[in-house]
Amino acid sequence: MNYLYQASALMSDTCPQLSAAYGKLAKSIGKKAVLRMEPAIKRTLCVRCGVLLNPVTTADIHDFRHKQLCYVQVTCKLCGYSKRFYNSKNHQLWLDNPSSVVERIEFEPSSSSS
Ligand SMILES: [Zn+2]
Repeated sequence: MNYLYQASALMSDTCPQLSAAYGKLAKSIGKKAVLRMEPAIKRTLCVRCGVLLNPVTTADIHDFRHKQLCYVQVTCKLCGYSKRFYNSKNHQLWLDNPSSVVERIEFEPSSSSS
């Protein structure tokens, strides 16, 4: 997944179609292996076509701020899909929540002298 993501990032400038193919492949491999992508990484891939959303080449980013509604709208230039990321004060990602950690295992270095 990491390798495919890096390949997608490299290709997003020159060949967005290839970047989309690598991004989709990384997503589908993550589904098959039941691995979760970090939300910060997952949000850089387009939901529909899988291209890496680079603000310079492959994405339009619109920052909307109003009294009650604040969001960042990211529009993919390849497929036209747009996604809004709402910015609310009380919102917290599940991975940042301490209850998302089921068990914590600490490994101590084995003592060689005995
Ligand atoms: Zn797209």
